[in-house]
Amino acid sequence: MMRIGSGFDVHAFGDGDHVVLGGVRIAHTRGLLAHSDGDVLIHALCDALLGALALGDIGVHFPPSDPRWKDADSTLLLAQCMAMVRDRGFELANLDATLICEFPQITPHVAAMRARLAEVMQCDIARISVKATTTETLGFTGRGEGIAAQAVVLLESR
Ligand code: MG
Repeated sequence: MMRIGSGFDVHAFGDGDHVVLGGVRIAHTRGLLAHSDGDVLIHALCDALLGALALGDIGVHFPPSDPRWKDADSTLLLAQCMAMVRDRGFELANLDATLICEFPQITPHVAAMRARLAEVMQCDIARISVKATTTETLGFTGRGEGIAAQAVVLLESR
């Protein structure tokens, strides 16, 4: 059996000197406003995994009202979502994620993000795709107000 899931997330820029994307810390002139570390890519990915299992969304499992998730390292959330996947007898077939922003430049960090995600998800890096695009200066991402991410996952039963 196979299950597909999709996820989407946005965080706005605020004061700061770095962002965390795909579990990788990237120096930047702004930070991302969030209750956790603001890792939009991982949040979209968690929502895709939960969606594939019809288990609700990231807000249900890791509520912002819970102090445990204050400034949380989002890789911990991702590891927990993968544990739910495996508990239910599934394995990741592949994932495809896209970051949408004008800045920072994503491409130089894609290899590190894929490696980090493979490590956290305990799967082959060949199953993990990370891409980036801009919106040609249009909309909130184009104006540099924040970063959006979307992710699709395919799970297969073991
Ligand atoms: Mg989020």
